[in-house]
Amino acid sequence: MGYIDEENVKRELIEVMKIMHDKGLMTGIGGNVSYRMPETNEVWITPSGLYKPKLNTEDLVKIDLEGNLLEGVYKPSMEWPIHTSIYKRRVDVNCVLHCHPPYATGLILAGVEFRPITLEAALMIARALTVPFIYPGTKELGEAVAEAAMGSRVILLQNHGAVTLGYDIYEAVTAMEILEECAKMTFVAKCMGVKPTEISERDIELLRKLYKL
Ligand code: 13P
Ligand code: ZN
Repeated sequence: MGYIDEENVKRELIEVMKIMHDKGLMTGIGGNVSYRMPETNEVWITPSGLYKPKLNTEDLVKIDLEGNLLEGVYKPSMEWPIHTSIYKRRVDVNCVLHCHPPYATGLILAGVEFRPITLEAALMIARALTVPFIYPGTKELGEAVAEAAMGSRVILLQNHGAVTLGYDIYEAVTAMEILEECAKMTFVAKCMGVKPTEISERDIELLRKLYKL
């Protein structure tokens, strides 16, 4: 495995929170992101309750997979059980992102199942599982999300938001962006009174081959 510069990882995590806030995918105090140093049990994660778009790298904290503080002064995100439960089960995942995307979350509340109606979504988010409402910050929520994460890169949290996963930071960020874009398009089509048409399974298969996915 190549060398990964921890300071660079920390700068990127800070940047992710700014991007998510700028895109309206979370309020300043909502959402969190983490990065597991590959092949270790060490996780850099955003602190709890702070205004995320204004974080500095020194505000981030390092925890182990049991939530013990290894570095930093603040409390880790209250959702650390979501992050660590996923890392424990998925050795291929190094980044977990949690936001409150309004369209994706709103459609779930309206009983509209997520469908990958764009090419990007079909290739990146084959399916998105929904976890019923469970109190934020609990081990129960962490377990339920980790269970769903075994077969899905995107997990929707009823009455709450979404979690995306990636091998790296950009995979998790891209999945969150595509999720919300797809939800907005679905919303527009629904507003026009139509059920959005979908890309056929056959086309998705062909596209996967074309893009070597
Ligand atoms: P933290 O500030 O503790 O990360 O909580 C934000 C959040 O979105 C809780 O679900
Ligand atoms: Zn949340």
